[in-house]
Amino acid sequence: MLRTENLRKSFGKHDVLKGVDLLVPRQSTVVLLGASGSGKTTLLRCLNHLETPTSGVVYLEEVTLGGSFIGDGGKWASDTEAAIAAQRTHIGFVFQRFNLFPHLTALDNVAIGPQRVRGMTKVAARETAAAALERVHLSEHMHKRPSQLSGGQQQRVAIARSLAMEPKVILFDEPTSALDPELVHEVLDVMLDLARSGMTMVVVTHELRFAADVGSQVIFMADGRVCEAGTPDELFRNPQQPETKQFLRFFS
Ligand code: ATP
Repeated sequence: MLRTENLRKSFGKHDVLKGVDLLVPRQSTVVLLGASGSGKTTLLRCLNHLETPTSGVVYLEEVTLGGSFIGDGGKWASDTEAAIAAQRTHIGFVFQRFNLFPHLTALDNVAIGPQRVRGMTKVAARETAAAALERVHLSEHMHKRPSQLSGGQQQRVAIARSLAMEPKVILFDEPTSALDPELVHEVLDVMLDLARSGMTMVVVTHELRFAADVGSQVIFMADGRVCEAGTPDELFRNPQQPETKQFLRFFS
């Protein structure tokens, strides 16, 4: 349902993505692993056009994101910023840092998207937000501001904020890497619940246990390319590429 074809991204002369073909089936959890600098975050950001790919195409449910091919020659025509922003509302993004509004309660942080972007009434948006906060087990904290919540709770608010938009897919960029170790599991548990409920997810993480338990597919990236991909069993038990073997030795 989300896929890329020969996706490339360069920053100046630095070719960061060198032709990535990714396939994320509906209701699957695809985990992206790779050494620092291998291009995982750049790939995730290209998937929802937070970065504009240098070339290649992203498809969400077979609709091209960020533009379309027109005419017989298939010439690429970029969409307007407004059109890209509209497409992006179907794709949730959970960042390393939670990026919550500090002056708003958890409930209002989550309600703001449905109200402003989806055009819901304030009452309906708050109902949607309350339901999303319940899914991440934060109902009793919904009237607190971010500063009154732990890092793990703040990250769960950020996940609820994505859920409230009813996205087709959620992209997670190292969602636990900014957390104290004792708070990591509460966020991973919520993500596990989401995966089991059939949410389509792409997750950049260094949590190999999570990748093994939850990943439908694990993709190992090296130097801007997919180096190796497979089920967790295949990739963790029997890695084929030297880069994958070295990475797994280092992290396990
Ligand atoms: P990490 O695990 O450290 O987050 P990563 O695999 O996610 O690494 P990216 O963050 O995608 O890697 O970065 C890949 C390369 O692209 C790095 O060398 C980085 O410096 C470069 N890069 C990323 N964003 C930009 C940018 N906006 N401008 C210039 N270079 C960039």
